[in-house]
Amino acid sequence: MTQAHIPYGRQSIDEADIRAVEAVLRGAWLTQGPTVEAFEDAVARRVQARHAVAFSSGTAALHGCTAVVGLGAGDLVVTSPLTFMASANCARYVGASVGLVDVRPETLNLDIGQIPAEADAVVAVHYAGLPVDLRDLNVRPRVVIEDAAHALGASTPDGPVGNCARSDMCMFSFHPVKPVTTGEGGIVTTNDDSLAEKLRQFRSHDIERTPDRGAWAYQISEIGFNYRMTDIQAALGLSQLTKLDTFIHRRNELADRYRALLAPLPVELPPEAPQGFTHGYHLFAVRVRDRERVFNGLRSAGIGVQVHYVPVHHHPISVDIGVGSGELPACDEAYEQLISLPMFPDLTVSEQDRVVATLASLVQ
Ligand SMILES: *Cc1c(COP(=O)(O)O)cnc(C)c1O
Repeated sequence: MTQAHIPYGRQSIDEADIRAVEAVLRGAWLTQGPTVEAFEDAVARRVQARHAVAFSSGTAALHGCTAVVGLGAGDLVVTSPLTFMASANCARYVGASVGLVDVRPETLNLDIGQIPAEADAVVAVHYAGLPVDLRDLNVRPRVVIEDAAHALGASTPDGPVGNCARSDMCMFSFHPVKPVTTGEGGIVTTNDDSLAEKLRQFRSHDIERTPDRGAWAYQISEIGFNYRMTDIQAALGLSQLTKLDTFIHRRNELADRYRALLAPLPVELPPEAPQGFTHGYHLFAVRVRDRERVFNGLRSAGIGVQVHYVPVHHHPISVDIGVGSGELPACDEAYEQLISLPMFPDLTVSEQDRVVATLASLVQ
């Protein structure tokens, strides 16, 4: 008997989410309108930031971050090699150079102690939902951006990720596998009034209203984009946000259960959240020897494992960075062994048991 496919990540949508989207579809606004504003307010309140500016994707939101602080040619933007390419591309979009520093094996987050003094900006990625400890940033670059695509609902001793206690801006993604979803979508939180205003203009063609010249009048001074979120998406996001705490609690329960069940196996467990931190557990990425065989075995058994990530410096586009594959040893060694096991709020205990039993049969 073939068993049902278990993905590595999946959205949790309920009837309340569907009704919230339906209500917008029956109303007057489809594109960015009052529901986007309500969603922004709700996210800002949830993460204790002054402002939240919604975007059409997390990638667009990251582009907004690098653009509004004026990063460009000649500037160095340092990020983690163990991330999705968008964390690096947000530098390339504005003509800045990408720099990489290796990860710390004990967290798999970039080693912010290694950021060179000449860096103009850092994009700190909270890998798997475990927040980077920004208190370790001894030389602060001009711009600190958090790529918190994995980490809505996570926290540090400074408070919720997104409160920008030690950063200028923090980006969240609402892709379906992320902590909450809007289908596609992203948001930037900040405590800086001027950055918030610039982000709002950047996402909508840099349109600035000039009512002193007439009720119709506006001006455009900088290059802008159409990176707006729709009210349809924001309605889903607002409804999803009410379940964030439940989702993160469930992810942590599943992580504890994986840890207990996998403890006897020759499998290296993911880094745990230090005292005072809450892990978001977007991913549960274990390390195994002979990864290719184990990966293929799990996939053949209908278990949708994934590898996060093919490192930034392994891709042909990254020839501009000048760091070869193998030259960031902690990242390169982790990459050889990482496998993301299924982790999402609706994963059942019996599905999890099936993942563990299949993994056990492959590693022993
Ligand atoms: C998902 C993700 C992004 C991009 O978000 P999208 O909403 O898919 O554009 C950026 N960085 C990281 C680390 C991600 O996982």
